[in-house]
Amino acid sequence: MTDLSIAVFEGDGIGPEIMAATMQLLEQLTRSADSYTLSFDFLPAGAGLYAKTGDALPESSVAAARTAHAILLSAMGLPDIRYPDGTEITPQIDLRFEMNLYAGVRPVRIAPGYPSPLASPGDVDFVLIRESTEGLFHTKGKGTVTEDYATETLKLTRKTSQKLCKFAFLLAQQRREMGRGPGRVTCVDKANVFRAFAWFREIFDAEASHHSELKADHAYVDAMALWMVQRPAEFDVLVTENMFGDILSDLGAGLMGGLGLAPSADIGDHHAVFQPCHGTAPDIAGRGIANPMAMILSAAMMLDWLALEKSLPELAQHGTRLREAVEDVLREGAVLTGDLGGSATTEEVADAIGAKL
Ligand code: NAD
Repeated sequence: MTDLSIAVFEGDGIGPEIMAATMQLLEQLTRSADSYTLSFDFLPAGAGLYAKTGDALPESSVAAARTAHAILLSAMGLPDIRYPDGTEITPQIDLRFEMNLYAGVRPVRIAPGYPSPLASPGDVDFVLIRESTEGLFHTKGKGTVTEDYATETLKLTRKTSQKLCKFAFLLAQQRREMGRGPGRVTCVDKANVFRAFAWFREIFDAEASHHSELKADHAYVDAMALWMVQRPAEFDVLVTENMFGDILSDLGAGLMGGLGLAPSADIGDHHAVFQPCHGTAPDIAGRGIANPMAMILSAAMMLDWLALEKSLPELAQHGTRLREAVEDVLREGAVLTGDLGGSATTEEVADAIGAKL
């Protein structure tokens, strides 16, 4: 039996509600596990904590999260709680930089029951990998603004770009082994205009040369925005710069039918955070009606990742079971929250998914 410790940030707004639903299902899975146990360490952080203590992300929480095998996070931030400079507190972004979580993994999947706005999307199951620590976010909060001009700087480093590309090819290989993709990696850039992206392409091509069993190609980011809408079923793994990935991942969430179904992971060499793409939804917080599916799908990604990290196939089986249970409930369409056109509560959705498990 391998005991895995999970750091849990319940966060703000709907965070505790969707986290409780997710915990219920993880505990259900763990009870039937032969090879692993999960123990949970709930850690304080968020806008509510900042309002009370003046600290949004205590060093003790970061230190405890560093010792965990994985980190589960709901969402943080509240529009009315801000730093003195007027910006919102964003501990979920601070964690990315603190732990050097360079690979933002954003799956885009459209299965029966997903409320996709596309009429006939086909079998869509691709993953966008967004670099999450540099790119155009290099001068985040430190750009130059004068009366006459404003500048921000894009910076790509060889070290992070190489690690990112390697991550993308390994993911494509794993997906192919799991029967979830043809083994294709597409570099999404703007190499026709910017030297930095032509340089990134060289790094991508060098990594591709080590993976002759996989297909590697390139696309300009503007064309990719078009193709994600027109022929999304063709893609497998996309890898791109931070700002391009920021924009394309919301396009991906839109293709799936909204943020309520969009999971994500932020992965580095030593740590990984799993969280839904949506925020704290203060407009519906405290009413027990939030959709927990994106959070639950993020937990399924955590099980998949831990399976590879710890070489425990049962974790991957449980990750797949959890995702399939969510998709069964979606396909049947009888127990859905308001954002998906239903009237079920968060708890009822969790129970329906639990019944499928
Ligand atoms: P939001 O994602 O919280 O909400 C946008 C809309 O989607 C709202 O109408 C909300 O009710 C709905 N929604 C979101 N998640 C839902 C769910 N699970 N079930 C049902 N409906 C859902 O975005 P926002 O309103 O722009 O931001 C609210 C707060 O969240 C802000 O303080 C923002 O900074 C923060 N935020 C945090 C994260 C994060 O922690 N990763 C991400 C985005 C926003």
